[in-house]
Amino acid sequence: MNRNYTLFFLLLFAATNVQFSNFHSTKPSRLNSNSIKQQWIDDFTWVQYGNMPLVISVPHGGTIAPDSIATRSCPGITTVTDSYTIELAKAIDSVFMADYGMHPSLVITHLKRSKLDQNRPLPEANCNNEQMVAIWNRFHQSIDTALQMALQKSPQCLYIDLHGHGHANQRLELGYLLTDDELRNPATIIPSKTSIASLIASTKNTAEDLLTGKNAFGSIIASKGFAAIPSIQDKAPLANELYFDGGYNTKRYTSTSTYPNVFGWQIESNKDVRFTAAKRSAFAKALAAAIMEYYKMNTPLLF
Ligand SMILES: [Zn+2]
Repeated sequence: MNRNYTLFFLLLFAATNVQFSNFHSTKPSRLNSNSIKQQWIDDFTWVQYGNMPLVISVPHGGTIAPDSIATRSCPGITTVTDSYTIELAKAIDSVFMADYGMHPSLVITHLKRSKLDQNRPLPEANCNNEQMVAIWNRFHQSIDTALQMALQKSPQCLYIDLHGHGHANQRLELGYLLTDDELRNPATIIPSKTSIASLIASTKNTAEDLLTGKNAFGSIIASKGFAAIPSIQDKAPLANELYFDGGYNTKRYTSTSTYPNVFGWQIESNKDVRFTAAKRSAFAKALAAAIMEYYKMNTPLLF
C-alpha cells in the first residue's frame, strides 16, 4: 500500500461516522465526500448516492409485480428477470466499503421487468402504460443525479449497467456498444462509437488496449479467475455464440454529447457468479479489485 493510498484510506475511515447525513452538506473535495445517502424515491426505486466515481444501475433484478400494474404485452419485448443482480450490486457495495472505505452510487429498481423495463426507451419500456412514466423518469433522473454528483468531485466517472445473462457459456459479457462482428474484426472499430469513447480520448491507451489488451477491464477480471469477453484471454465471440453488446442505458449514459466525462460498459454476469451469496461475495471482491486496478492503470481517479 503506497503512502498516498494509506492517507486516503485513513481519511475515508475517519469520516465514516458521518454516513447517511444529507449529501447537500458534502464539501466539494473528494477526501471530504464521505456522506452517503440511501433512499426509496418511490415504491420501487432505491438509490444510494455514494462517494466515489462509480455509478452502478440495476434495471432488471426486480421481483415486485403488483396486480394493480398492467403486465407489459407490446410486441417484441423481453420480460426476463436478471435474478440476483440486486443482491450482487449490494455485495459489490459491501466489498467496496470493507476493502476500500468507499461506496459506489447505486440505482436499483425493485419493480419486475414484466411491469416496466428500465433499460429501454419509452414507449417500449412501459408499453404505453402512462401509470409507469413517472417511475421510469425517476430511475433515469437518479442515474443522472448520481453521475453529476460524482463529476462534481472527480474529472471522470465510471458507469456500469449491471445485468445477468442465461447463456450456457460461463463468462462475463462486457458490452461496449460493439457488436460481436466488430469485435471479430477490430479494424472496423470506431473508438468514438464505443461506451469508453471519453476515456479513450483522455488517455494514451488505445481502444485495443482498453478492449482486448492488458489494460482492458475484461483482462483484469479474467486474470482474477472470472472469465470475461472481450478480454486479452477471449477477444471476441464466435459467430455462433450469444453475446450482449450493451443496451439503452449504456448508450445513454456514456454518450459523449450528453456525458463527455462518463465512460463505462454493461456487465452481463453469468449464473455462476450470482446464484449464491458465497459466489456473489467472491465475485464482488474480484470485481471491486479489478475496478480499482482499472482506475489506476487508465485514469487519474482515486490515485
Ligand atoms: Zn438485463
